[in-house]
Amino acid sequence: MEMKPVVDKQRTPIAEDAPTDELIAWTLERFAEQRLIMTTSFGMEGCALIDMYARHNKPMTVVYLDTMFFFPETYALRNRMIELYPHVDFVNRGTTLTPEEQAEKYGDKLWEKNPAQCCNLRKVAPMREVMVDVDVWITALRRSQSPTRANLRMIDWDWQYQVLKISPLAAWERPTIWRYIQEHDVPYNSLHEKGYPTVGCTHCTKAVPNSSPVDYSRDGRWAGSEKTECGLHYGAGI
Ligand code: SF4
Repeated sequence: MEMKPVVDKQRTPIAEDAPTDELIAWTLERFAEQRLIMTTSFGMEGCALIDMYARHNKPMTVVYLDTMFFFPETYALRNRMIELYPHVDFVNRGTTLTPEEQAEKYGDKLWEKNPAQCCNLRKVAPMREVMVDVDVWITALRRSQSPTRANLRMIDWDWQYQVLKISPLAAWERPTIWRYIQEHDVPYNSLHEKGYPTVGCTHCTKAVPNSSPVDYSRDGRWAGSEKTECGLHYGAGI
């Protein structure tokens, strides 16, 4: 019996180095029936990527982990994004452990005494819970952000969470992200204009002298300690 080739639109192949928008469209079509999420900490890259996905007008879930230590500017940005992209479902899956409960249980200023434990409690443990129900994970990581991200692939298997990890911006550079933000009028954290290349928790993020929005550096994170990543990504971080 002659076998007819099966044409399955959902199995359309994609090149590993596909253009960003092609990869984004492929992600949305190929995994429409899967449990697909993007995670963000509302950094500049994350805002640009949310905008790129939102332009396809398909349902999209964006998960963020509110550590309860966000800057007021970050909460304002979150609110603006929710308002601007009504068909994007922004879901907070942050810890329920309040700062007061953390201080009572683990001591005051844990972020100074043991930042790894603090990040584990407030970021890594909640992230593990999120990933239990996920098949495909979209991130806004870029290779040139740090040596730990240098080998990032656009499509890869994440062994830590056992999910397919898609990073459409892997090959982008910060000035190109900034240009996209400007050209498409995408909201961004106002702290980027006050010397903060990246924005995390209030206790662990400092401004970097002479930094402008096109400059990327992780120098302002956990300044004065060896720590450079929070542990959300296997060998990397957001
Ligand atoms: S970045 Fe700092 S305050 Fe935030 S969870 Fe990690 S150690 Fe704690």
